[in-house]
Amino acid sequence: MGKMLQILKSLTLSELLGGMGVTGRYFFKRKFTVQYPDERAPISPRFRGLHAQRRYANGEERCIACKLCEVACPALAITIESEQRKDGSRRTTRYDIDLTKCIFCGFCEEACPVDAIVETRVYEYHGESREDLLMTKERLLAVGDAHEAQIAADRAADARYR
Ligand code: SF4
Ligand code: SF4
Repeated sequence: MGKMLQILKSLTLSELLGGMGVTGRYFFKRKFTVQYPDERAPISPRFRGLHAQRRYANGEERCIACKLCEVACPALAITIESEQRKDGSRRTTRYDIDLTKCIFCGFCEEACPVDAIVETRVYEYHGESREDLLMTKERLLAVGDAHEAQIAADRAADARYR
């Protein structure tokens, strides 16, 4: 009986017609796919992408080397070394984030008392060696400098929902 039904289905092309019916139904429906990279899906202000170090408007780096982010990091991805400046302030001499360890949990930015370390909307990056994925202080500051306007806007938007 089962064999007969299978033959009948094959002869009437019922499965093919059923498939074409599904295609026809969805052809005119609203599309959910986007044509990346020409189109982009919306991103939340809380998106946790590539890290950045921020500066104040006068160019001074925000980070005060308190090391709270290093302690908060569950992946032990952050390494900080610091020294005291002549004016008594403390600043990092080394601030590395190893992206091969990072799990993008956002704990570092939540722990930071001065909004220095943040995660940006940047997700288009890659590395071909481990060194490529080691975000040094210089690289983090460069990301921050390049995206400060978006970072500030995202943090202002995010603050409205806290
Ligand atoms: S996002 Fe999480 S895992 Fe990555 S550096 Fe920050 S605290 Fe560590
Ligand atoms: S990034 Fe923030 S939490 Fe981390 S050491 Fe600098 S000031 Fe402290």
